[in-house]
Amino acid sequence: MCLFCKIINKEIPAEIVYEDEEVLAFKDIQPLAPVHILIISKKHFASMNDFAEEDKKLVGHLLLTATKIAKDLKISENGYKLVIRTGEDGGQEVPHVHLHLIGGARLSEEIKPV
Ligand code: AMP
Ligand code: ZN
Repeated sequence: MCLFCKIINKEIPAEIVYEDEEVLAFKDIQPLAPVHILIISKKHFASMNDFAEEDKKLVGHLLLTATKIAKDLKISENGYKLVIRTGEDGGQEVPHVHLHLIGGARLSEEIKPV
């Protein structure tokens, strides 16, 4: 079972900020900014590449959960970044789709080849 599935099953602790039947959101263990939340689907998808047409609703729900948490944490007006790393070039480390909600400070623009 993958790391994030263990968090979903409460086998590994996490600081959960939102949970419903389909999604879970928790604080990143190594925050890059004052707000750094990971939003995941409770159903395991290894990466964005695994989403299909039938998952449209879930993908929308993941995005709207991010906007809801941003509002709850009062960062929506100042803004934030939503990042989904995919595969090796994208720098994905945990093979379970997750949205990074990052904010609470002015963020650098850096997105360039290594
Ligand atoms: P990525 O590089 O997009 O796959 O991001 C993986 C993220 O998961 C990193 O930002 C890690 O800090 C975070 N992470 C790894 N293990 C944990 C954990 N046990 N609890 C919370 N966040 C974690
Ligand atoms: Zn998983």
